Amino acid sequence: MAHDPRTADAAGCLYVVATPIGNLGDITQRAIDTLSKVDAVAAEDTRHSARLLQHLGLHKPLIALHDHNERARSGALLDRVAGGEQIALVSDAGTPLISDPGFVLVREARERGLRVVPIPGASALITALSAAGLPTDRFVFAGFPPAKNKARQDFLAALANETGTLVFYESPHRVRDTIDAMVACFGETRQVVLARELTKTFEQFYDATLGALQALLEADPNASRGEMVLIVAGAAPVDNSLAQATGLDIDRLLKALLSELPVKSVARIAADATGIPKNQLYERALQLKTS
Ligand code: SAM
Repeated sequence: MAHDPRTADAAGCLYVVATPIGNLGDITQRAIDTLSKVDAVAAEDTRHSARLLQHLGLHKPLIALHDHNERARSGALLDRVAGGEQIALVSDAGTPLISDPGFVLVREARERGLRVVPIPGASALITALSAAGLPTDRFVFAGFPPAKNKARQDFLAALANETGTLVFYESPHRVRDTIDAMVACFGETRQVVLARELTKTFEQFYDATLGALQALLEADPNASRGEMVLIVAGAAPVDNSLAQATGLDIDRLLKALLSELPVKSVARIAADATGIPKNQLYERALQLKTS
């Protein structure tokens, strides 16, 4: 059903409201207006959102809606919307549904033909991308890598050939393991930006190769503190022009060498033999190894 956003006040509505990711000054006027007028606020953590409402001078009934009760609670919340009430959905920080609860609720609202109105604002992934200096024309948001080693390796291997920029969320106590796994899967020469504490006092962008970031995190425990987004350059497309000119099948050569040698040696020998830059061959050999 098509809805005209200009008439969004006329009947029941679910508003998906983005809130700041650190700096309270990033709340939008529309978010404040919306939170002021709704009948209730569904929040991931009611105590956390109560503080935001208090900061805005608002008093609204809060309803807990998190990963563990979203399925059970969505029906009753949407009954209220169907009955003409206006409900706002917020998460602890940033945009709901982006690595946060809300998908089940929004999906069900759409299935029931209820009005869902986004109130856009901050999201850590877009904030990080906008200032990281890596290509933004094409990117993949991959969310949080799995916590277990094997699952994380498989998850990264599936992204190894992706040429778009890769965006990950990560927690401080897992970031070193994740960077180690990225070095193994994407190679130590891939460019990465670690964006920490965005919009907060100690905001920091660390721009390096994966190998250099690995060394930094080992040397300086402070570098892995706080909230963070990892932005990794996409895989370099292999320049086949030289190989084509010489009639060489580069993948075949690399695969043959890989069956006998480690990736670094494969890249060095293939570079000597073909004249193709070593780092390109290193990346391609890694891709072939993990694919
Ligand atoms: N819904 C949020 C959004 O729109 O960005 C994301 C919620 S997710 C549960 C939390 C993760 O987002 C953190 O672990 C971190 O990776 C990232 N994040 C949130 N706030 C951040 C900030 N101020 N600086 C850097 N990363 C942040």
